Amino acid sequence: MKGINILLLTLIFSFVACVSSKGNKKADMVLLKGAVWTVNPKQPWAEAVAVGGEKILEAGSTVEIKKLIGANTRVINLKGDLVLPGFIDSHAHFIDGGFSLLSINLRDVRTREEFVEKIRNKAEELGKGGWILNGDWDHQQFTPPELLKKEWIDEVTAQNPVCVNRHDGHMVLVNSLALKIAGITRDTPSPEGGEILKDPFTGEPTGILKDAAMELVFIHVPEPSLKEKLKVAEVALRHAAEVGVTSVHDMASASNFEVYQELLRLNRLTARLYVYFPIKEIGNFIRLKLKSPFGNNFLKIGGLKGFVDGSLGSSTALFFEPYTDDPEKYGILVSDMFPEGIMEKRVMLADKSGLQVAVHAIGDKANHIILDIFEKVIAQNGVRERRWRIEHAQHLLPEDIERMSKLRIIASVQPYHALDDGRWAEKKIGKERRQYSYAYKSLLEKGVLLACSSDWTVAPLDPLTGIYAALTRQTTDGKNPQGWIPEEKISLEEAVKGYTLNGAYAEFSENIKGSVEKGKLADLVVLSQNIFKIPPEEIKKTEVKMTIFNGKIIYKR
Ligand SMILES: [Zn+2]
Repeated sequence: MKGINILLLTLIFSFVACVSSKGNKKADMVLLKGAVWTVNPKQPWAEAVAVGGEKILEAGSTVEIKKLIGANTRVINLKGDLVLPGFIDSHAHFIDGGFSLLSINLRDVRTREEFVEKIRNKAEELGKGGWILNGDWDHQQFTPPELLKKEWIDEVTAQNPVCVNRHDGHMVLVNSLALKIAGITRDTPSPEGGEILKDPFTGEPTGILKDAAMELVFIHVPEPSLKEKLKVAEVALRHAAEVGVTSVHDMASASNFEVYQELLRLNRLTARLYVYFPIKEIGNFIRLKLKSPFGNNFLKIGGLKGFVDGSLGSSTALFFEPYTDDPEKYGILVSDMFPEGIMEKRVMLADKSGLQVAVHAIGDKANHIILDIFEKVIAQNGVRERRWRIEHAQHLLPEDIERMSKLRIIASVQPYHALDDGRWAEKKIGKERRQYSYAYKSLLEKGVLLACSSDWTVAPLDPLTGIYAALTRQTTDGKNPQGWIPEEKISLEEAVKGYTLNGAYAEFSENIKGSVEKGKLADLVVLSQNIFKIPPEEIKKTEVKMTIFNGKIIYKR
């Protein structure tokens, strides 16, 4: 009896000790006297945050959080600065982004002369044989807008193969040397899902290759070594830290997974990566019986990414009606859609295997087609938490917005595209179709979840420029000061949620990140201005002052 009492006392004592030590748990770091927009509807604002290890211990008033300061706590006085959850970019081409930071930059080129000059300089820098790649040019901003030709650059690149892409990644300009290496001549037919542009008079390839046709040259570009890719990934991670991005959904880069694995092993990942593999890889997933998401909080396999069509800028986005500026063209189905029926088969298989699916669709017909497929598969397999996504969901018939809502499909959207494309989109699709383009407000009103992103390298990675875009819709040419299709502007709260909690939802992680909440991962950003107190136009001038990832400061301005 006595023995039992002692045991009981010991148990009670250790229980009390445990509670009190828990109650006294001190923070490793506290951020005080700020303005914290938590994205937690139960407590939208706080003044201070306590971080312990990799997690948020508490968000609350400065007085409350001060109680968690111990002998070893790092104390940061925010002096009123705004804190948000670390940004989640739901669609980026992360390694490509790193490459673009290191390679030729044609993004701001506006004349033929400047274009040729930059290519010439790069050729001299690389020396004989070096490939000139990436570039991110945009012919729409040339005066006058004209499609590039290989003849512009052949003379300055006799010894360097060139394959530079439009910033949307749906067309490239190659030079004569690259055409020769790839064996493309006037007699080469355009592959299914792509186009080799040919001069209407001479029949010779112009150097422009679209979608699947780009592959004909890509396969000859030497694959960078793992060491090179690691360097590039670290450049990309550094850039992400500078702009407050702590999570990235990386799109369809099977060949880059090795790089992320290696960075994970070296403990050098400073952003959480959620990686999609090309949908054609589905066989491997099924053989392994791999369900998604799979992985840890730093690196996860997210699922499968497919494509229905191309892009608006390249006139390959697929519409029901022809292009206004080219009545012969409706856009194209790209290679993931062939042979016919394969997309449905793969989506069905993915669903039966418990894999998340994200499919690129831009034109109204492309969106309609993929929604038909989703609807069919869901009807057959029954309701469950799929969290399927349409990437871009750019031009939608009103009834398809309804359908997205009904089927609970996530709209994975890139607000900055509206600023870029808004300069010329109306020329391509006319007045009527523009009403349902980049329709963020309409999607929200119908109850569709918006996960926001950059599509880096198509647009800048910086989420603050994306938030600015979603709020103002001011096109980059300054011609729409009140916003292009202003009725589709969304609120700041909605935009921030799109770059945080909704991104977490899109990767099944809303319980561990995406808001500043007790127990969630301590990924935070501190901004140079309180974007809730300034006019939306000023948001683009805001900078990230500090980025905290996994409880550690990884960037300080
Ligand atoms: Zn993309």
